[in-house]
Amino acid sequence: MTLEGRACNLVSESDIERFERSAVARLKELGMRITEPRRKVLRALATSRRPLGAYQIRDNVQREGGKVDVVSVYRILAALVEAGLAHHIGTVDGYLACTGHHSGAHGTEHLICQKCGCVEELPIPNPALAEIGVAASRMGFLSDLTRVEVLGVCEHCR
Ligand SMILES: [Zn+2]
Ligand SMILES: [Zn+2]
Ligand SMILES: [Zn+2]
Repeated sequence: MTLEGRACNLVSESDIERFERSAVARLKELGMRITEPRRKVLRALATSRRPLGAYQIRDNVQREGGKVDVVSVYRILAALVEAGLAHHIGTVDGYLACTGHHSGAHGTEHLICQKCGCVEELPIPNPALAEIGVAASRMGFLSDLTRVEVLGVCEHCR
């Protein structure tokens, strides 16, 4: 990995704490239990700007002295996506902490750097998203959730 590439993949301790705090608050709000494995998975997600696979998350948790198996990681990730705290990035088949300010499960619009692997949430104005739904409905398709994944090179890697 290049040095420039590292810059955008560094997450500050205060960013990690902020995410953990809001995530825990959100789980409470939804009446979901704050279990130790859930906390550990949230922390693993919070520390990375690159989407992580379930196996990587399990390894990270174990490195931190936690205990969790891959099946549980998948279950926890599904719950976190449902709660709007994480996104599944299809192109790279990984999970990412949600850093946008929205609640609940929502469509994903992300910029994916093909050099360093960092992923940034891209705020797309609602009319642009609605346009996609309209085009879909013209084809008789009832859209549910729109995901936009833009592949390219991030600011740091250019
Ligand atoms: Zn980047
Ligand atoms: Zn998000
Ligand atoms: Zn990059």
